[in-house]
Amino acid sequence: MRHRSEAWRKIDGASFDVCVIGGGATGAGSALDAQLRGLSAVLIEAGDFASATSSRSTKLIHGGVRYLQEAVTDLDPGQYNVVKRALRERRFMLDNARFLAHPMEFLVPCYSRWDVLYYGVGVKIYDRIAGKHNFFPSRYRSAADSLARWPLLQGSGLKGTIAYADGQFDDARYCVALVQTFTQGSGEAVNHARVVSLRRDTGGKIAEAEIEDQLTGAKTTVQAKIFVNATGPFSDHIREMAKPGVEKRLRLSKGVHILLPLDERVTEAVVVPKTDDGRVIFAIPWLGRLLVGTTDDEVTHEDELVVKRSEADYLLRQLNRYLSRPYSVEDIVGGFAGVRPLVSSGKPGKTKKLIREHEVEIDRESGLISVMGGKWTTYRAMAEDAINAVQQQLGLAVGGCATREHHLSGSDGYSADYPKTLAATYGVPDPTARHLCEKFGTNAAGVLDLAQHQPELAQPIVAGFPAIRAEIAYSARNEMAATLDDVLERRTGLQFYSWKTAMEAAPVAAAVMQKEMGWDSARTQHEVEDYVRTISGWTQKIGVAKDDAKA
Ligand SMILES: Cc1cc2nc3c(=O)[nH]c(=O)nc-3n(C[C@H](O)[C@H](O)[C@H](O)COP(=O)(O)OP(=O)(O)OC[C@H]3O[C@@H](n4cnc5c(N)ncnc54)[C@H](O)[C@@H]3O)c2cc1C
Repeated sequence: MRHRSEAWRKIDGASFDVCVIGGGATGAGSALDAQLRGLSAVLIEAGDFASATSSRSTKLIHGGVRYLQEAVTDLDPGQYNVVKRALRERRFMLDNARFLAHPMEFLVPCYSRWDVLYYGVGVKIYDRIAGKHNFFPSRYRSAADSLARWPLLQGSGLKGTIAYADGQFDDARYCVALVQTFTQGSGEAVNHARVVSLRRDTGGKIAEAEIEDQLTGAKTTVQAKIFVNATGPFSDHIREMAKPGVEKRLRLSKGVHILLPLDERVTEAVVVPKTDDGRVIFAIPWLGRLLVGTTDDEVTHEDELVVKRSEADYLLRQLNRYLSRPYSVEDIVGGFAGVRPLVSSGKPGKTKKLIREHEVEIDRESGLISVMGGKWTTYRAMAEDAINAVQQQLGLAVGGCATREHHLSGSDGYSADYPKTLAATYGVPDPTARHLCEKFGTNAAGVLDLAQHQPELAQPIVAGFPAIRAEIAYSARNEMAATLDDVLERRTGLQFYSWKTAMEAAPVAAAVMQKEMGWDSARTQHEVEDYVRTISGWTQKIGVAKDDAKA
């Protein structure tokens, strides 16, 4: 990727075949698909890549066991089709970026023989639907075996667990890898750039977008033959911009996650199969933490997107029922909240009942193509459908999608041994090599080359943690990171590990960014203060202050 200021210069007044608005999973996937089909494409993102829903997911690459349950109990073919499609996509997603995604075992605790039978049969159906795309067959694990894997599980009355396969990934980094791959082709992308208006030509079709730089206030325009609206929860805003008064299509559902200290013996995930409100909750080892989520409550854009105390309490209550030693709110070391962009069925009812199917809408009058709904797991299929619609609108032959087997940047030459090779080649500690590989794949060599040229960048960002300062410089130069939040949340992942550690890291990260971005000292100080104020506000909201354990 270009440096952000250069990217801005490149798009300034330029013309493209396709302009994709929104740099989350759907937009980044659509931009890459368009570029691989030979279309000239630009991607415009209002915040940072993946800064909205696409970095707030449960990090699952899954068909959805809950959706399967609903498909069976409600005899709902729509739910069944979503599961089937997602299970096929799961494989592509994993194969295209092995450093960012891997299979994982999920344990469903059973406290009666009926549960063993019920969940056992359920996941066998899941296996069958996945067919040749399955990672490994589901199986029964005895109570003793299950407790050895998850020592915190409530042992009393445990009849065993049903274990099945799904995938896990780093959502924020996956999105950055998509954009990186897109720009390594001929694609142009810019973040922190908001589409503020759309202009139609004399024929009534959208021909130009006005874009405002969110960091400098500068404005520019971009022309394109087709505009794709991939703005997730904000899709109705862009639809309204294109056609004032248009009927809204989305319902928004908030989901929160909390992060807890992880028992290091745990490598599998646990599924809470039945919550008070008839949903499932996951407790998943994720980059050294236990990620617990999620909730599902309808919201509007006016609602605050933070983890509330009541939501944290709800998650802990559901999980603790399955544990021998309960977690308390003081154990929480981090968390995040996101909004699901769900396509409305037109009927009232709870958002948890809405099918996670996606929809591509072509507005014949303005030419706007909106791709809405779906899941991270189906981003590629959504992009394929969206770019098919683009080709159709351009009067081109529809086809030529190449994303099923297109490896993402950082994948080439990657293998399970790569972290060891990296550690040996550059003489860095194993945890740092592993961390860099999990974030950058083979591009980690570029990070360490930087550290070799500027040895001060080889230092950890926070003592005792594997992340190093060179990641920040690398992300600013090569991944368009432009704010503290970009580097601490989505590029290095420190904020997902611990709020406290992220606050400690802020001044160090800001010093590196100051050099990279040419910030003056007032700007640097403001970035740190603003960042720390935001995060401490979140901790106060749920009342966590406890010192958290280091990795
Ligand atoms: C709590 C939760 C858990 C989830 N868990 C999973 C899971 O485990 N697995 C799974 O498969 N899916 C999961 N999902 C769903 C998945 O995260 C979303 O479907 C997906 O991330 C949506 O991506 P998107 O690109 O459509 O939207 P977003 O990621 O929201 O991207 C839209 C982008 O458009 C940008 N934008 C908005 N307006 C403008 C403008 N005017 N100009 C330019 N840019 C603009 C925004 O800044 C944003 O970055 C979960 C969702 C939630 C909320």
